[in-house]
Amino acid sequence: MRVTFLGTGTSTGVPVVGCHCRVCTSSDPRNQRLRQSVKIEANGKHFLIDTTPDLRLQLLRHPIPRLDFVLYTHSHSDHLMGLDDIRPFNFRQREAIHAFASAPTAKAIRRAFAYIWDSSQIGGGKPQLVLHEVDGPFTHDGVDIVPLPVTHGDWTILGYRIGGFAYITDTNGIPDDTLRLLDGVDTLALDALRPAPRHPTHFTIDEAFAVAQRIGARETWLIHLAHEAEHGEVEARLPAGVRIAWDGLELDLE
Ligand SMILES: [Zn+2]
Ligand SMILES: [Zn+2]
Ligand SMILES: [Zn+2]
Repeated sequence: MRVTFLGTGTSTGVPVVGCHCRVCTSSDPRNQRLRQSVKIEANGKHFLIDTTPDLRLQLLRHPIPRLDFVLYTHSHSDHLMGLDDIRPFNFRQREAIHAFASAPTAKAIRRAFAYIWDSSQIGGGKPQLVLHEVDGPFTHDGVDIVPLPVTHGDWTILGYRIGGFAYITDTNGIPDDTLRLLDGVDTLALDALRPAPRHPTHFTIDEAFAVAQRIGARETWLIHLAHEAEHGEVEARLPAGVRIAWDGLELDLE
C-alpha cells in the first residue's frame, strides 16, 4: 500500500492569501501546504480521501492512472469542493465513481452538488458519482475500510483505517470506541492545526501528540497545519515517532 499526501494544510491553505508572515513567505517548500488530502494505492486500486478545492493541481503533481473511489471525511469546503474535478476520470473510464460518506456528510454533498442528481442535461458538466452512506466497516474493490468516528467541534465526522494505516483529519476528540478501532495501528496521520492557541474543532500540536501517545502507532504524521506552524521549528521539538507531514510525502506501508 502506498499513501501520498496531496495536501497537508488547513482550510485556507498555506501561504494564506495576502499574508506576509514568516511561514507564508518561507522558502522551505514544506511550509507550502495545499488543502488536506491523501491518495492511496492499495490492492491495485487508486482512491482518494476527500476532494479538496486544490484537487486538480494535486493530481497534476501526483497523477493517478485511474480513480476507483473516494472516501469522504466530512463536508467542509476544504474537503469537498474539488468534487467537480473527478470528471476526467468519468470521461476516461466511462463510468461513475463510487464515493463513501456518513449519512450527514452524504446529505450535505447532495445539497452542495445538487446538480449532480437533478434531471438537467448531463452535457459535459456533471460529475458522475454513486454516493454510498456508511455506518461501519465495509469492503470495496477488495479493500477493507474501517470508518473512524471522531469529534470535530459539534460534528461527528469520519477518519478511516485501511489495514495498518489510519487517517484522522479535522478532529478535537477521539471517542473511546474509536480508540479501540485503532488498536495495533502502525502508521497514523492525525490533525494538528498549530502550536497554539487551542481551537474549538482541531487538535493543537501538543493535544495531537498526547493522543498519538495513547494510540501508540509506530509512526505518527501530523497533518492539516496552519501558518502558525513552521515546519522545521515544530518538528525539532517533537519526540521520536511523531513527525510533520508535507505535501508530496509518500509512505510505503505493508
Ligand atoms: Zn479541514
Ligand atoms: Zn501567514
Ligand atoms: Zn473540517
